[in-house]
Amino acid sequence: MSGTFPPTLFAGHHYGVAGLGRNGNAAVAALLAMGASVQAWDDRPEARAALATHERLKVAPFANMLGLAALVLSPGIPHHLPSPHPLASMAMDAGVPILSDAELLFRAVRAAGGRARFAGITGTNGKSTTTVLLAHMLACGGIPVAAGGNLGPAALSLPLLPDDGVYVLEMSSYMLERLERLHFDAACLLNLTPDHLDRHGDMTGYTRAKMHVFDHQEPGDLAVLGATLPNYASLNRQLAPTRTTVACISGADIPQCDFYCTPPQALCDRHGVIADLTHVPDLPGTHNRENAAAATAMALHLGLPRAAVEGALRSFSALDHRQKTVGSVEGIRFINDSKATNADATARALACHERMVWIAGGTAKAGGIEPLAPLFGRVALALLIGRDAPVLARTLAQYKVPCRIVETLERAVPEAREAARALGVDVVMLSPACASFDQFSGFEARGARFAALVQALTADPEGTRAQ
Ligand code: ADP
Repeated sequence: MSGTFPPTLFAGHHYGVAGLGRNGNAAVAALLAMGASVQAWDDRPEARAALATHERLKVAPFANMLGLAALVLSPGIPHHLPSPHPLASMAMDAGVPILSDAELLFRAVRAAGGRARFAGITGTNGKSTTTVLLAHMLACGGIPVAAGGNLGPAALSLPLLPDDGVYVLEMSSYMLERLERLHFDAACLLNLTPDHLDRHGDMTGYTRAKMHVFDHQEPGDLAVLGATLPNYASLNRQLAPTRTTVACISGADIPQCDFYCTPPQALCDRHGVIADLTHVPDLPGTHNRENAAAATAMALHLGLPRAAVEGALRSFSALDHRQKTVGSVEGIRFINDSKATNADATARALACHERMVWIAGGTAKAGGIEPLAPLFGRVALALLIGRDAPVLARTLAQYKVPCRIVETLERAVPEAREAARALGVDVVMLSPACASFDQFSGFEARGARFAALVQALTADPEGTRAQ
């Protein structure tokens, strides 16, 4: 259903690509495939060596930017705050636009005569879940869809969609600052809490960057705003001149919103109940209901029939490492929430279960797990791993929460199973509230190890097989 871009689309155009990570590499490959010539550079020799040779590719440091149609700068390279990278200054001095790969995707689609629509999702938390959920919902409705951007495939590695297709793009604030024309038919700003302030100066700068997701919208487009946004009313007012339809969404019971959730679990809009979320196991918690409300608002706008929403939500499978059930042994559910690297994220997971064996620990963040104290009553036993297990144990002892330091996941998983059995608890959850780098290469490796250990338990519940 989807195709490739014409090989001469950008013939005669010359692009610069600085930083050869996931986005940069995809940009080089796509631009060459569309007929452009490219100069690419990365300070890391191994990144340069990984590029395949091509007659229109020059791998060389930039002496100047003259003649470039645009510079694609890795999202990790700042062009503004805390200070512009020298390459960014060089581009700006030469009047060369610094563009995100999402902008180039949009231009490529339109240059190819394509009329596929675009949906853009941003916010501090929930971007990936909402992006994947929206893509899933549209696909359930038979709408051709390609999802990527900040999550999954880089924007420029997505295919050319047919005219009834939709690109669903997760947009980081860095990508949003590098747009010129990209127009989202449906755009969403989920929520905002302090994050990346080094790159945006302060909350005002961060908010301004995120609000770019609504740039270039027109009457008939949909702008989704989360009800928890600080200064919601003023952000809403900012959108007035575009005369887009603004949908206010919430995962809580706020009937003043256009999409909201009533207890126990009904997703509603102004016309009534759209979906019962009781049988949607992979979207637990108010935060996920917020994501579901946002994705539903956009999916309906983009053509998903109302009657198809509930089925699409039910068949959604959570992203790995975000409250994902990875196995059940004797009625005990093992949940991998390894992505929760701070207390705020873990709070959302703990709030979803009445009682659990909780596996936590790693490298603690400032403030530790003290903010979780109101939820400690749900913890039947905490098993602590990683470098800062003793720090966490001290906090738990203060609140008289039963805990044991087990140091590794290898010990934690079987001990959690035993404890859950003994205590009559049916949930074991890894939600570390800590970074993973003391024991793992990242949260993905930590979650994968947890899932593998649970798998081993499922295959051999009594642990009788030789290791
Ligand atoms: P992002 O892509 O923005 O990092 P994810 O969808 O990957 O977001 O979710 C990461 C974590 O953020 C989740 O494990 C959960 O703890 C938290 N989270 C998800 N959705 C929301 C939301 N709508 N509001 C607040 N926190 C959320």
